[in-house]
Amino acid sequence: DGSFPYARSPPDKLLGGLLPDGLDERSCRSRYESSMYRRNPGRRPSPHLIAKLRKHEELQRRCGPNTNAYNLAIEQLRTGKSVGSPECKYVVSISYRGLGNRILAAASAFLYAALTGRVLLVDPSNQMDELFCEPFPGTTWLLPRDFPLASYTNFSIDTAESYGNMLRNKVLSADAPATPAAELPAFAYLHLDHDYGHEDKMFFCDDDQRLLSNVQWLVMRTDLYTVPGLFLVTAFQEELDTLFPERDAVFHHLVRYLFHPTNHVWGLVARYYRAYLARADLRVGIQVRNFDPRHAQSPHVLHQITSCVWREKLLPELLATEEHAAPAPAQGARSTAVLMTSLRSWYYENIKGMYWDRATATGEAVSVHQPSHEGQQQFGKRSHDGKAWAEMYLLSLCDVLVTSGWSTFGYVAQGLGGVRPWVLHKQPDNLTSAPDPPCFRDVSMEPCFHAPHVYDCKMKRGMDTGEVLPHVRHCQDVSWGLKLV
Ligand code: GDP
Repeated sequence: DGSFPYARSPPDKLLGGLLPDGLDERSCRSRYESSMYRRNPGRRPSPHLIAKLRKHEELQRRCGPNTNAYNLAIEQLRTGKSVGSPECKYVVSISYRGLGNRILAAASAFLYAALTGRVLLVDPSNQMDELFCEPFPGTTWLLPRDFPLASYTNFSIDTAESYGNMLRNKVLSADAPATPAAELPAFAYLHLDHDYGHEDKMFFCDDDQRLLSNVQWLVMRTDLYTVPGLFLVTAFQEELDTLFPERDAVFHHLVRYLFHPTNHVWGLVARYYRAYLARADLRVGIQVRNFDPRHAQSPHVLHQITSCVWREKLLPELLATEEHAAPAPAQGARSTAVLMTSLRSWYYENIKGMYWDRATATGEAVSVHQPSHEGQQQFGKRSHDGKAWAEMYLLSLCDVLVTSGWSTFGYVAQGLGGVRPWVLHKQPDNLTSAPDPPCFRDVSMEPCFHAPHVYDCKMKRGMDTGEVLPHVRHCQDVSWGLKLV
């Protein structure tokens, strides 16, 4: 009936029951409109996951801000002492670093909250309140501004109340006999940042989880996708297995459930898609992330990108310049739109130029687009983050993805889209030629957990955590990282 011009089949607005019904559509148009833009309907959530989400939403409503239970819990936090069996327990997720990191962190905190029956509250700093719609009906997931731990955004590896420091200083112990519940503090800070230490990493051990389950308030700082680590905690395994029978789609479900662009960002996505991408037969997304500014305009990186897309037959090859009087395109020849995202425009200019200057071997038309080139990563600037979020989302609407290894920006796009990407190898610092091979096909669409623990909690000794479970393996882009496959 024309109401779903871009999807292949009638869109399933609620994504197979993943999304709750009954939210106001106008205040967050992306939540229900995005399915009209997706060719790939994505994976189906398990009935158990759907039931769990509805139950969790109920918890967020019962215990969230502006409820009696929340006010009581705040009072208890002020007194600093733990209480026997509190009605509601909380995890606060600190928001910092780039947008991709923030999305991975909040998704990880949410899964941890759901597994442990805690309410998730997200620190509203860094535009977290402006970029995303509220995910839970009838309540807010934003931590109120009058939260009594005033300096929580400055918590760091040195904070005395961090779980790691409390273990180190013997304020707490998870070894039997564990610290009795009555002596527990009202809150603990979980430092799960990439620079975390051995004691902080005890978070991923069963005994420590048992101890932490009695702490009413947990404040978590992470810039990592810690979910593969949660799969290694024995106490969570049964539940995770029933929630996610497809282990390679955990982030896919989490990100599509939690993160919906607010109306302004959705406008950026929808207008761009309709203007530049909708009419193409095939959309190829190429995400170029140069971690080293010296690679912002590198012929070697350009060569890496083109040899990847040609070798893997993601884009048609070009004829030599003399042959540019190419055959007239066959009737109905395919058209391809390339969506590039990058902080710079140099790669885009070059690739666009190539496809203008020379004919494709297949006669198909290739158009190349890049929404913005912001120059460099900026912090705390509204329009900058809005563009980044819109571009991640546009990438996720592509049929084929080429991403940059190591980049959480690309991880978010592939998870949202349900697309297993081709990944450009990270360029070595002393780049003298294109990495060979230029890219690899990832084994799953899951993000990589960049800094996992390497510890056997039972035997209390070092261990390769990538060798424990068949579905938790080392990543190809970050060799010591872990990912679900
Ligand atoms: P990562 O550093 O690649 O893991 O990704 P993050 O998203 O965590 O941080 C990079 C930040 O740089 C983004 O959040 C954006 O602010 C900016 N950025 C990086 N690449 C792009 C891009 O292609 N487009 C836009 N608009 N911003 C980008």
